Amino acid sequence: MINLESDVKYIKGVGPNRVESLNKLGIFTLKDIITYYPRDYEDRSKPKKISECQDGEDVLIEAIAVSKLIELRIRKNMVMYKLTVRDDTGVCNITWFNQPYLKKQFQYGETYCFFGRVHIKGSKLEMNSPVFDTKDSNKHTGKIVPIYPTTYSLPQNTLRKIIENAVEQVNGNLEEYMPKYILDTYNLCEINRAVTSIHEPETFKDFSYARRRLVFEELMIMQLALLNLKSSWKKEQDGIQYNEKIKMSDVINDLPFRLTRAQLKVLEEIDMDMESKKAMNRLLQGDVGSGKTIVSIIAAYKAVKSGYQVAIMAPTSILATQHLESFSNMLDKYGIKCELLISSVTKKKKEEILEQLQNGEIDILIGTHAILEENVVFKRLGLVVTDEQHRFGVRQRSKIVSKGTNPDVLVMTATPIPRTLALILYGDLDISIIDELPPNRKEIETYAVTKSLENRVNSFVRRQIEEGRQAYVVCPLVEENEEIKAKSVEEIYEKYKNEIFTDLVVEYMHGKMRPKEKDEIMERFKNGEINILISTTVIEVGVNVPNASIMIVENSERFGLAQLHQLRGRVGRGEYQSYCILKYNSNSEIAQKRMKIMTSTTDGFIIAEKDLELRGSGEFFGTKQHGLPEFKIANLFEDMDILKEVQALTLKIEDLDPKLENEQNKGLKRLVEEKFDGRIEM
Ligand code: ADP
Ligand code: MG
Repeated sequence: MINLESDVKYIKGVGPNRVESLNKLGIFTLKDIITYYPRDYEDRSKPKKISECQDGEDVLIEAIAVSKLIELRIRKNMVMYKLTVRDDTGVCNITWFNQPYLKKQFQYGETYCFFGRVHIKGSKLEMNSPVFDTKDSNKHTGKIVPIYPTTYSLPQNTLRKIIENAVEQVNGNLEEYMPKYILDTYNLCEINRAVTSIHEPETFKDFSYARRRLVFEELMIMQLALLNLKSSWKKEQDGIQYNEKIKMSDVINDLPFRLTRAQLKVLEEIDMDMESKKAMNRLLQGDVGSGKTIVSIIAAYKAVKSGYQVAIMAPTSILATQHLESFSNMLDKYGIKCELLISSVTKKKKEEILEQLQNGEIDILIGTHAILEENVVFKRLGLVVTDEQHRFGVRQRSKIVSKGTNPDVLVMTATPIPRTLALILYGDLDISIIDELPPNRKEIETYAVTKSLENRVNSFVRRQIEEGRQAYVVCPLVEENEEIKAKSVEEIYEKYKNEIFTDLVVEYMHGKMRPKEKDEIMERFKNGEINILISTTVIEVGVNVPNASIMIVENSERFGLAQLHQLRGRVGRGEYQSYCILKYNSNSEIAQKRMKIMTSTTDGFIIAEKDLELRGSGEFFGTKQHGLPEFKIANLFEDMDILKEVQALTLKIEDLDPKLENEQNKGLKRLVEEKFDGRIEM
């Protein structure tokens, strides 16, 4: 057996200064090096005829040297070497620079293989600095060659050689951890073959087979680790058991409206979690306006009345402030005290809040990241609610959670996440979904319009405002940018203010303004003092102004579907028929498709799925901030089919053998343990 943890310095060809270069690439052990996968491959296996080569192509040619190697001193420190070769279809002139070792390499009349980039100059072919072999050697050519991500200090060829040595060393010695029944059922190749073929594939088919195995394994480990985390939370941590005599129905019956079937079902799940002994770790997913906030209010009521405090964490001050309003409106009458802690709170007020929090006078603290600070101490924190625009991340969540003793956790998100990805992003949580909107909500009418309809749109907006409504206008950028002709907030503002709606109150807002300025504008908009608010996507997040009935999106082709959906959710929050007008300025097929989807459905889940389909990655899944784990080889979007297979299998295993104790699953357990060392960091 082989020790995969052994230091790279023991690999053949790795001297002390190579160690440093390798470390810079994040490579420390033998295992690191065999899992340092190529970013691409060069096919140097199939020679082409000289006459068939295309300008600019990387090709392999097999040709006879028909000149001697000519050495030309061009200037100081610059020597050029020239060789002319031919096959039965044409001639190629080859040049190299500063490589004196070439002098002994070529024999007139012998055949060689050259791989490099060619250019067509007149009737001749030129090739610059190719790698080459004699006809019978396969050192650099005659095969598919891996290309690794590397740095200047470690040349591609050197790194390739090192990895080649490492692969040779482990080949045949790797223990197969993936159970045989899985290899067979899912048509996966054996581990030694997979590792060899990913680095040195004989054919591209060979490569695909190897890659499938390695992707499957990587996704499988992640999914198993998440499930493992979930079940350890369920088992080991004794959570709070809330008082079953405190009835959620007391609040529910007091509401001015009836909860939807979906809200009731979700509340039942939450209530069960709260009364059970285990700590709740639950994701509450629901489209904008589906009524998640009220669900969290009712849960908070139960926690407070059972004698605990509640922390509510929102991504922005505006949202936190809004939550405070909703919570106070609903809960004041039960004698529950809510407070707001955001960065703009005065020092004096903050001290007061911290004191009252610590002595238990404050029942519910609502705030932004500010409540994560060290000096924010609860007397008896029992429930944590995070309202996540995107994922706050396990670490942040655990920071707030650590302010209590195994408090219950409810994570709310309005970002519709296709189930496959939810299982990766939030695989550590139980999932509840509110999949219906409150009744009598008028469906938002959506129109995609081009410039020719601008005047009609403007008079429509005017009529709505005359009826007392308000409008949002969202643009993609803050400042004017010549290059991409997107309309900036300020440009649009000038136009609306000075040309189209000179008699109305038009204001603007963007992310570069101070929080205080933004809050002021938002407050005035809420109070109806502003008719038209022009902004960037800063209003994307959960803002609630029921009187706003129009959402105009400028250059809507610049936004992802998921983002457009979020923006559209800013209207239609009151009793008025609302409208979303997507202005677009593009004939591209993808823009047309997006517009079509937006005008044909308001279902966030459908839109999220389509977004994935169209873009390969949704707006909100593309970046690191969404907390998607980083993979060495898997790509969640390209490998969606494998992910689905893995999830189906993992769920089955969770059912049959959650702790991976069966003999046949022992290998899986080791895979997870080795990867995460018992802990999971994402
Ligand atoms: P979310 O947080 O999911 O975006 P909210 O909780 O803010 O949605 O609810 C949006 C609006 O709908 C709020 O004004 C809320 O009071 C109202 N609402 C919530 N549930 C219902 C319901 N079942 N019937 C009628 N109105 C509701
Ligand atoms: Mg909300």
